[in-house]
Amino acid sequence: MKTAPKKSPLRILLLGGTTEASALAEFLAGAPNVSATLSLAGRTTNPPASTLATRIGGFGGIAGLSHYLRDQKIDLLIDATHPFAARISANAVDACRACGVPLLAVERPPWTPVPGDDWIEHDTVETAIAALPAEAQSVFSGLGRQAIDALRLAPQHRYLIRVVDPIELPPDLWHCELLTARGPFRTGDDARLFADYDIRYVLSKNAGGSAAYAKIEAARQLGLKVHIVRRPALAARTTVQSADEAMAWISQHHRSRSDLGV
Ligand code: NAP
Repeated sequence: MKTAPKKSPLRILLLGGTTEASALAEFLAGAPNVSATLSLAGRTTNPPASTLATRIGGFGGIAGLSHYLRDQKIDLLIDATHPFAARISANAVDACRACGVPLLAVERPPWTPVPGDDWIEHDTVETAIAALPAEAQSVFSGLGRQAIDALRLAPQHRYLIRVVDPIELPPDLWHCELLTARGPFRTGDDARLFADYDIRYVLSKNAGGSAAYAKIEAARQLGLKVHIVRRPALAARTTVQSADEAMAWISQHHRSRSDLGV
């Protein structure tokens, strides 16, 4: 009896750094006839462990990513980075176009205000910080480590800054406090935290998803104003909203590729 020729594995590059990417990594690690690599920027010191082969660090812009796609003979790129990771996402669009590699982006829906929310929306981290009141306040910053320098735009406030990894605050931010914690967070915990620190304002990116939503719910419970940063605009690309949808899309892509005998 003749055996069917063995199909070459589907080679996937998964850009990560999110809970969706972690779920997809586990899915791809167990998927038959798939050879996938998870790519992380290397921003956090202890990223969640993955069973998938992992590379860490930037590619070197569009040219570097294009070189990687060609060199590694990547068949499909999945961008499951954070909605605020605009540079790598733009690079992925350009590199995939240059190399003729299909691109799928996982983009969780943004949060939308519900009754009881008191939001002011901003286009940038800087405008959100600059919009805080003139008189000194206790402010919670959930904007992340990369936004710490911008807090100098409104230095009169006492900031409680939550980050994933311990870092040293610059000396001129001596009046701020650093809190090291990795989500997911719980609403009750964040509400207690805000009450303990007498927080009056919350700074947040519109990250979407559930892991970081606790601060938004806690602010609602306590009647706090939230200065929230809108997402950066990204180039048009094929997009799904969740890891589950991405898994279905990949399986479909894999099937049609096999049907073509690739
Ligand atoms: P970014 O501004 O879009 O990217 C800056 C540079 O970092 C990119 O040009 C690329 O360097 C490198 N890079 C980013 N993500 C990468 C990845 N997954 N694999 C390899 N290189 C990557 O990104 P960012 O805002 O700094 O975010 C960095 C990482 O943290 C991302 O993986 C993102 O998912 C995660 N994250 C970001 C946020 C946020 O608020 N921005 C929040 C949570 C998690 P080269 O140009 O040299 O390739």
